[in-house]
Amino acid sequence: MSDVVELSSDTQTRPTDAMRAAMVAAEVGDEQQRADPTVNALCERVATLLGQEAAVFLPSGLMCNLVAVATHTEPGQLVLLDRAAHIARAEAGGSALAAGVQVEVVDGERGVFGPDAVVAAHAEPSNYWPQLGLVALEQTHNFGGGSLWPLETYDAVVAAAHERDVPVHVDGARLMNAVVATGVDAARWGSGVDSIWIDFTKGLGAPFGAVLAGSHAFIERAWRFKHRFGGAMRQAGMMAAGCLHALDHNVDRLADDHANLRRLHDGLVGLGLDVTPPATNILFVDPRPIGRDAVELQAALLRRGVRLSVVHGRLRAITHLDVDASGVERALEAFAAELGRSIAGGS
Ligand SMILES: *Cc1c(COP(=O)(O)O)cnc(C)c1O
Repeated sequence: MSDVVELSSDTQTRPTDAMRAAMVAAEVGDEQQRADPTVNALCERVATLLGQEAAVFLPSGLMCNLVAVATHTEPGQLVLLDRAAHIARAEAGGSALAAGVQVEVVDGERGVFGPDAVVAAHAEPSNYWPQLGLVALEQTHNFGGGSLWPLETYDAVVAAAHERDVPVHVDGARLMNAVVATGVDAARWGSGVDSIWIDFTKGLGAPFGAVLAGSHAFIERAWRFKHRFGGAMRQAGMMAAGCLHALDHNVDRLADDHANLRRLHDGLVGLGLDVTPPATNILFVDPRPIGRDAVELQAALLRRGVRLSVVHGRLRAITHLDVDASGVERALEAFAAELGRSIAGGS
């Protein structure tokens, strides 16, 4: 492995030897026939974790969103989302293709919006107005900088949707980060909504897989779309075993990622940078106020051994189980050296 400090994403983790051993040893069957015992065990465990009746294993988080949107909606309906939601911004328009829906975006505050947005998006029943078919939340919010939905706001939006018979879907790619950061358990976030999923390839450190949970009836309908979209698998227990291993070993330690992110944040602010407030394991740095371009600064930092990603003109850093406290210090040293040079050269 290279010794680059890898802050570009929490998807960059490599499975440990113990996780690989668990995957190799997995008992398997035909997942498409619902006969893979390891997948079935994972789905039961995640359904319980999220306070739901049932769950289905899917190859990716993106497919959880596609399957959920298709299962909840009819073509032509609106899906209410924050403007920077992953479904709206980072899925290549997949919901339009897979479900024929339109997105109705609202400008949330770091991804968080209030019940007023639901009221505004809802139209009287009519053949004329497109109908609000789904409200989708993201907890934590990726492009909001790992931001958190406060429980009261979350409950208020869910209540506003349910009062209008509109279901609520939660993109919980990083829900376990929210659980660890807030101390509110996963079932509390999950039990009041109509579908919710967690990703195993982000901070949980597995190489593959996501699990979508909901009522028995919802999951039965979801299976139709899983199959239609090519998400039914065969001996997927080898993959599910990595996810079970992640649940056993990699949840509580997300607190370390949050502590490392906070340290990174404080150091970057100390260097005079414009940084999103720390919430969980993601931050954005806007280099424009110091006269630097994100792509150029990214390349300069990579030459100094630190990799960040660039999202719409800002640098993004994400902490995860393959970055320790010393990696964060190295990242801060790289920033300091890089900015020191630019300050000397530019003033
Ligand atoms: C990564 C991510 C997804 C997609 O998950 P994949 O497993 O990469 O397909 C969806 N939503 C959010 C918020 C994400 O961060």
